[in-house]
Amino acid sequence: MTEKKVFQASEESKAKAKQLRLFAILAWLVAIAGEVFAIVKLIHNETLTWLIVAIVVILALAITGNLLWKKANRLDPASEKDKARFFIQNQLGAIISVIAFLPLVIMIFTNKEADKKTKGIAGSVAIVALLAAGITGIDFNPPSIEKYTEEINQQTDVVKGLIDNDHVYWTKAGNKYHLYGDCQHIVGRDSIYDGTVKAAWESKGISELCKTCEKRAQKANAENELEENIDSNAEVPEDQEAEEEVPVEADQD
Ligand SMILES: [Zn+2]
Repeated sequence: MTEKKVFQASEESKAKAKQLRLFAILAWLVAIAGEVFAIVKLIHNETLTWLIVAIVVILALAITGNLLWKKANRLDPASEKDKARFFIQNQLGAIISVIAFLPLVIMIFTNKEADKKTKGIAGSVAIVALLAAGITGIDFNPPSIEKYTEEINQQTDVVKGLIDNDHVYWTKAGNKYHLYGDCQHIVGRDSIYDGTVKAAWESKGISELCKTCEKRAQKANAENELEENIDSNAEVPEDQEAEEEVPVEADQD
């Protein structure tokens, strides 16, 4: 349609992403420190309970880090142009999860001071933790500048199709943008922002159109169309009558 809009994260989004990444890295570092501690101190028959507690704590930290990291990537995504960086940035949580658990799993199974039962229990728990952390670390639908650019252009066209212009509303905490400032979901909120679809994505990572607004716009459009049809239908018989009258008058003449 018009010129192609290219996604560029706002300064606000970048700052927020930076903060989330910092917390993610902190959580991961503590998780790995916990793993080292568990390997050095806790792989014994007598400390089995503490080993399991440690694994659960490491898992919680790893998952927290993974989720924060993925959230940051949604606010400030990588470009697909640099393939290696794109992969590492989006899948770093999975990589860290392997680092946080695989050495522990190996040490549990190869430890000489733990008996079969301890190895079986602690080993299974650690493997389950490795899988759980790994899965939350994988980004199955990794965001990218290119993907966001594509979607912004598509959604801008959708919005223009619904309300004839590219002007939407969103709130500070909301995760959807709205076509109407008086939508029931945002009316009366303290801070309502407005701007283009692109601005909603860039400033807050908002990528979804409010369903209520969408239906309202569709309904309004359908009603307008119906009115237009009624108008044009009403005009047809008049035209026909007018045409019919001509020959009658001609006959009279
Ligand atoms: Zn709405």
